[in-house]
Amino acid sequence: MSKVLIIGAGGVGQVVVHKCAQHPSVFSDIMLASRTKSKCDKIAQGIESQYGVKIKTAKIDAEDVPALVKLIRRFKPKMVINVALPYQDLTIMDACLEAGVHYLDTANYEPKDVAKFEYSWQWAYQDRFKEAGLMAVLGCGFDPGVTNVYTAYAAKHHFDEIHYLDIVDANAGSHGKAFATNFNPEINIREITQNGKYYENGEWVEIPPHSVMKPLNYPEIGPKNSYVIFHEELESLTKHFPTLKRARFWMTFGDEYLTHLRVIQNIGMAGIEPINFKGKKIVPLEFLKAVLPNPGDLGENYTGWTSIGCRIKGIKDGQEKTYYVYNNCSHKAAYEETGTQGVSYTTGVPAMIGAMMMLTGEWSGAGVWNVEQLNPDPFMAKLNEYGLPWHEQHNIDLEV
Ligand code: NDP
Repeated sequence: MSKVLIIGAGGVGQVVVHKCAQHPSVFSDIMLASRTKSKCDKIAQGIESQYGVKIKTAKIDAEDVPALVKLIRRFKPKMVINVALPYQDLTIMDACLEAGVHYLDTANYEPKDVAKFEYSWQWAYQDRFKEAGLMAVLGCGFDPGVTNVYTAYAAKHHFDEIHYLDIVDANAGSHGKAFATNFNPEINIREITQNGKYYENGEWVEIPPHSVMKPLNYPEIGPKNSYVIFHEELESLTKHFPTLKRARFWMTFGDEYLTHLRVIQNIGMAGIEPINFKGKKIVPLEFLKAVLPNPGDLGENYTGWTSIGCRIKGIKDGQEKTYYVYNNCSHKAAYEETGTQGVSYTTGVPAMIGAMMMLTGEWSGAGVWNVEQLNPDPFMAKLNEYGLPWHEQHNIDLEV
């Protein structure tokens, strides 16, 4: 029985609140706090009518550490689940340290003024969390998150050494809009317009955006054009599994999506430098976010599936073997359960499971952790139980 504070009332926050409310024996008292309180209240009302569980709400600026500390001290949660934006990771970690509570997030810190995400800023909190006897779990969504757990599970049960890791992420869904992103457009566009990067033989190889493509087959979906991009879990996985000779991340993009993206970049709308507009400073990408569809509203007519998994090659008992572990998630089923589409669902469910692991003591230990450092077995069991069942294929052609 524990109190939990969830920060961020977007698509992912909505799923986390739903899933926590479904397990009152662990999450006995829930508060949702975010920048816009009306969004928290709307989610809370929906939960109350669906599950009869009362959710507390609060307005918070998660970049204001004293205000966060005050809120945490007032509500006294055992932990904070941060599903606001990556920009707020460090201030929320600071507040958790000051107020003495555990921390979990789904995306690594990114400064607002540089489109660059890496773990160095959050790994630098290691000693402070250790000394405070607190646990911080980083990147506990689907990717990063479940993909790290899949890799740890594969290394533990199916391989003596893993050598090649290809994380494959397909969204084979259709929302009927000409262009929309599936999670926060600003974060999403910053991520996918960067140079691609993968790990090979101890080095990072940088490539122009979307310059390496292969049509890969996804279970129940078929072939989808898949592009090598950089994704944050590659950084921690290559550190924690030093036997890896190569690690890459593939994401599917449709031609229409890439055309829109190219236009957005070419006309300067993906820019993050402020410009003057009618006497006001505006950031083009922030303005673009304001006119694009809200990812949280895509769910109603969303059909199709997401399919995310790990394709791994390595050695078991002296023999080379291959292994593919994946989940397919239906946008429609996600919407029917939580009112949001599959990308928010696949992020929010693992965040709830990670928090559950921490609150029940199945995951414990002072310090800053990436999820692959923790026991994957109870997490894998809960994925099957709580809406993200996984499937395995052995010794198949991995295509990559
Ligand atoms: P949204 O943009 O839908 O929601 C973000 C929420 O955070 C909004 O409610 C927003 O408030 C709130 N917020 C922003 N700034 C502040 C602030 N300063 N103080 C308080 N609240 C603030 O994003 P998503 O729900 O799609 O994504 C949430 C997180 O999940 C992101 O960090 C994203 O990167 C991560 N993610 C991780 C994935 C994974 O698999 N690991 C996949 C997808 C997303 P307001 O409503 O006022 O705008």
